[in-house]
Amino acid sequence: QAGQGDLPKTIWEKVKNHPCYSEEAHHHYARMHVAVAPACNVQCNYCNRKYDCANESRPGVVSEKLTPEQAVRKVLAVATSIPQLTVLGIAGPGDPLANPEKTFKTFELVAKAAPDIKLCLSTNGLALPDYVDSIARAKVDHVTITINTIDPEIGAKIYPWIFFNHKRYTGIEAAKILTDRQLQGLQMLTERGILCKVNSVMIPDINDQHLVEVNKAVKSRGAFLHNIMPLISASEHGTVFGLNGQRGPTAQELKALQDACEGETNVMRHCRQCRADAVGLLGEDRSAEFTTEGIMAMD
Ligand code: SF4
Ligand code: SF4
Repeated sequence: QAGQGDLPKTIWEKVKNHPCYSEEAHHHYARMHVAVAPACNVQCNYCNRKYDCANESRPGVVSEKLTPEQAVRKVLAVATSIPQLTVLGIAGPGDPLANPEKTFKTFELVAKAAPDIKLCLSTNGLALPDYVDSIARAKVDHVTITINTIDPEIGAKIYPWIFFNHKRYTGIEAAKILTDRQLQGLQMLTERGILCKVNSVMIPDINDQHLVEVNKAVKSRGAFLHNIMPLISASEHGTVFGLNGQRGPTAQELKALQDACEGETNVMRHCRQCRADAVGLLGEDRSAEFTTEGIMAMD
């Protein structure tokens, strides 16, 4: 279906030009990501750090890392070439809120140089409660939080460790802190009227049955969209999950879960799992046209 769907009118007005949130808009409006955030405060079993963050991006492609100043130049260059550019997202390659100086500096510079471009942010949520004020001040329109579980026992299978308050936590203790912080951060943002989408990575036999519960929990805290993404299987997942090769879900399994969640909150079905440095319309990637060398050579 294209268009407003079940979204309330007030939310639809805010997202109708956003390629990631509106099936209709993703054919007409472009978004870009700038990869300014290299560090991460969480280890996900499906990430091996050579790749972009699975918060918003497809594992398997390493993106260039930019300084905030380089990022704003890139945004201006892209906005000149792609006039349909409406959204700038920061989604990695690590966690934007584990790199708060770079992330908020980039937002500040872009807001000054290109005030019409909407800002969005994607995070694992661990640091989120500490940055709700900064996010509101930066006038970030939309935040995406990746929440794969609300059950710490399941979380312990997905996250080997987190780094929180200058300390490394592991196992169920780590997963409980992460879950509490994610749900708290989601609630704090929605209470302030900041739109929140939740991403979940569907991992067969780990969290697949449980994601219906996640869907209810995030809906009750005000998430307006739930994006269930398939785990993209990679050979190293076998080792990190301690299983004999962790597979991704089949298309039928994914659809069955999305159907089971439909009606609970709007479920996003057109996500393309973009790279952390993606440029262009969803489903097209023009990042190769806008390399750091190319941007610097324009001076
Ligand atoms: Fe990787 Fe993102 Fe997970 Fe961090 S939050 S470990 S960058 S997938
Ligand atoms: Fe879209 Fe996510 Fe990128 Fe924002 S961070 S522009 S929601 S893909």
